[in-house]
Amino acid sequence: MLVFLNDYASDMTRQLLYRSKETSLLDKVQLITSSFSGVEMLTSDNTAQVISVLGDLNVNRVLITDGAGVILYDSDADDASEDTALGQYALLRPVAEALDGNNVFYCRYASGLLMSYAAAPVYLYGSPNGCVYLSDLDYGLGAIIQGLEQNLARISWGLAAGMVIFSLVFAVITSGKMRRILTSMELVREGEYSHKIAMHGSDEYGRLAGEFNKLTDRLQASEQAQRQFVSDASHELKTPLASIKLLSDSILQNDMDAETMREFVADIGSEADRLTRMAQKLLTLTKAESVQDGEREVVDLSRIISQVFKMLIPLADQREIRLKCTMDKDCAVLTLEDDVYQIIFNLVENAIKYNHDGGQVHVRLLRRDEEVVVQVEDTGVGIPADALDHIFERFYRVDKARSRQAGGSGLGLSIVHDLVERNFGEIQVECPEEGGTRFTVTFPYFDMEVAE
Ligand code: ADP
Repeated sequence: MLVFLNDYASDMTRQLLYRSKETSLLDKVQLITSSFSGVEMLTSDNTAQVISVLGDLNVNRVLITDGAGVILYDSDADDASEDTALGQYALLRPVAEALDGNNVFYCRYASGLLMSYAAAPVYLYGSPNGCVYLSDLDYGLGAIIQGLEQNLARISWGLAAGMVIFSLVFAVITSGKMRRILTSMELVREGEYSHKIAMHGSDEYGRLAGEFNKLTDRLQASEQAQRQFVSDASHELKTPLASIKLLSDSILQNDMDAETMREFVADIGSEADRLTRMAQKLLTLTKAESVQDGEREVVDLSRIISQVFKMLIPLADQREIRLKCTMDKDCAVLTLEDDVYQIIFNLVENAIKYNHDGGQVHVRLLRRDEEVVVQVEDTGVGIPADALDHIFERFYRVDKARSRQAGGSGLGLSIVHDLVERNFGEIQVECPEEGGTRFTVTFPYFDMEVAE
């Protein structure tokens, strides 16, 4: 590329200088040829006369020939030491072309010397009957061209060297950055999630480092959450296992009557039931991954609410809690049926579990513009304001003793939260002033007519 630019620049300079030389040399040739106007024929005498009248033409050599190309005047003939060509044929290409009626100019540059030749016909009686030929050796312009070409070559080499140095520096810097990123990746792969790349800037490497740091932040957070989950889960599982151990030890070590033993065994059974429920909920939580579009179906929520009520009426009846339901028509959503069943079941079950005996649970199914809303409201114990922010966290329980007594695990609402999210819904909880708790779940409405 640099070589090409260099050649192009030096070509342009030469052309410009050649052009100026051509003009000056052809002007001189024209001056001589026009001096012969009115002359009947060219002779040695009149040609020498014209040249002497014109004075110093400041060229290297002047030749004037007749129509056949025989030299009538040679400026070198004035110089006694030079061989002259007077009387001989001028076997020169410019002369031949000029005798054909052309004005010609040739220029050649070599090793600091600019050689130029010009020739033009002398017209006598309307046809070329002679020729004027000038040649010039210009050391001044030759030196200018040489100087320019040397400068251009120096600039090109300078630029080339600069580019090589710049490429080397760039390669060293970028490979250094790449090495740092790779080392960081290795460290994170080994488990050092807290490692950060200290690389700033808005170039690709800076952005790559930024994205990498964000990724490690997420990895760190997810590893922390996973650890927390495992420690919480094992802690929760330990409690019923400890109860089972305590109860079975008591049975083995103490002499007890059949009635007490049956009571202890029943307690062991209910702790085992709790463990089973907890294991099921843990499984549901780990399975709550993303759903493919094709797996969703149009579900009428009023049917799901009726099914949930049917399942929970015995539990509500035990504590004389009234289940009430208000439903709008046309409440279809595109979702997984099992998911919405689980969501509504958990909310209504909680509304019964954390209610007062003789209380009420009111489920509302509402159509609001492009949304379907399920509201589960109870007249129960309510949730303290400072606990509302934590209610959807895993294993979180406001009143541990009450939850345990009600067979809770602290996982129900976090399952509800995950399932609502993966079905593009939203969930809110509030405690109305008059008491109790109200959960509101919103799903996008599925318009069957538009879908068809
Ligand atoms: P649990 O299995 O303990 O019921 P959840 O995740 O379903 O776990 O609920 C978490 C906690 O939120 C419960 O322990 C309870 O203290 C509180 N809670 C949930 N629903 C209600 C409600 N309707 N009324 C009052 N408190 C509730």
